[in-house]
Amino acid sequence: MYKVFKFGGASVKDAGSVRNVAQIIRDHKGDDQLLCVVSAMAKTTNALELLVQQARASKGKELPALDTLRNFHLDIVQELGLDAGISAELEETFTEIRVVCSTESENEYNYFYDQIVSQGEILSTKIVARYLQHIGVPAIYKDAGGLIRTDATYREGKVNWPVTQHLIETQVKVLLEGEAHRNNVIITQGFTAKTSEGARVTLGREGSDYSAAIFAYCLDAEEVTIWKDVPGILNADPKLFPDAQLFNRLSYTDAIELAYYGATVIHPKTIKPLQNKNIVLRVRSFLNPSAPGTVVENEEIFGLLPSFIIKKNQALISISPRDFSFIMEENLGQLFTLLATHRIKVNLMQHSAISFSICIDNDPMRVPGVLEQLKENYVTEFRDNLELITIRNYNEALVERFMRGRTLFAEQKNDHTVRLVLSSGN
Ligand code: ASP
Ligand code: MG
Repeated sequence: MYKVFKFGGASVKDAGSVRNVAQIIRDHKGDDQLLCVVSAMAKTTNALELLVQQARASKGKELPALDTLRNFHLDIVQELGLDAGISAELEETFTEIRVVCSTESENEYNYFYDQIVSQGEILSTKIVARYLQHIGVPAIYKDAGGLIRTDATYREGKVNWPVTQHLIETQVKVLLEGEAHRNNVIITQGFTAKTSEGARVTLGREGSDYSAAIFAYCLDAEEVTIWKDVPGILNADPKLFPDAQLFNRLSYTDAIELAYYGATVIHPKTIKPLQNKNIVLRVRSFLNPSAPGTVVENEEIFGLLPSFIIKKNQALISISPRDFSFIMEENLGQLFTLLATHRIKVNLMQHSAISFSICIDNDPMRVPGVLEQLKENYVTEFRDNLELITIRNYNEALVERFMRGRTLFAEQKNDHTVRLVLSSGN
């Protein structure tokens, strides 16, 4: 049976955590055919985003973020006691990044971003694979670029499923099937893929969970385990609610809703491929690998705890036609096309006779552009510094507690979920 493990950036943040991940892999290999998807180490993706800015600002000449990243990774290699071969391999990647930074900074932003930002996962997986080999685990490094094929929607590649299925079947299964390959473990990257032209594409920030789901789907895996620094899926973000509680079990629908509403525990696109093939999802703690964590499967669970999902830094745009006409299907069609062109996702919307309001992430790269265009045909009202709060399995006392001392700008309720757009709490 195939199993897929996903290790996020926090699980490989330094040499000690790489050893811990290697231990978890060693403890599980052999019984099952194991493919591991690994994210970039610690905050590497953020550092690469900074590098993209530096490369564009200096036309590739001043890249201090690259030096920092280079030292960070090479120090880990050294601390793990790996040989010079791996350092040389990493140097190749750093040279490649440097070349991209200096030769292509005139390119379209999203393309440029993906060629650079995807390299964080290349670095981490090279290190993890080499460390596993070092401790005697027959780890096989595979570049996910040769396994997951997407279109050229840079920064949010759309998967070409038939081609991806074929690539994974022909290139991964042969490495894991048969007695001789019993102990093999595949180490590959999350977050990255390639187009048919061979350009790197990323799947969107935090997209490694989705990568794990893509591999699991194409391998017909029995289960996916996402190893995290929390005990499993909790009913609130433990950083905001220290008494957050663990769900032992959830249905796919619960998990999809939590992710959709903004719980950051799993990437929203992860559940669908798993649900489609009835693949069990486990969310477990790499800090306490023997604890069972949360199991997500195809079974409705009754009597769930309320859960709280808070999206900060929200903006509300209210849109009405200039001539006081009704908002009709044609306007809505236009509005959604405009939002899609700016790649703005609507977190909540509300529609009245003469206005239409949307709550969105207040992304400074995207929102001003869309506002400008909206103003051509509509009267708009813009409010920022808001929070979108979703409470599943709510009761009125909980709602009141959240509203206390804040202004309510929009509200949506159904029998089990309430969503509130409120002035920011801090
Ligand atoms: N490294 C990428 C990010 O931080 C992908 C991931 O970790 O899921 O967004
Ligand atoms: Mg990450």
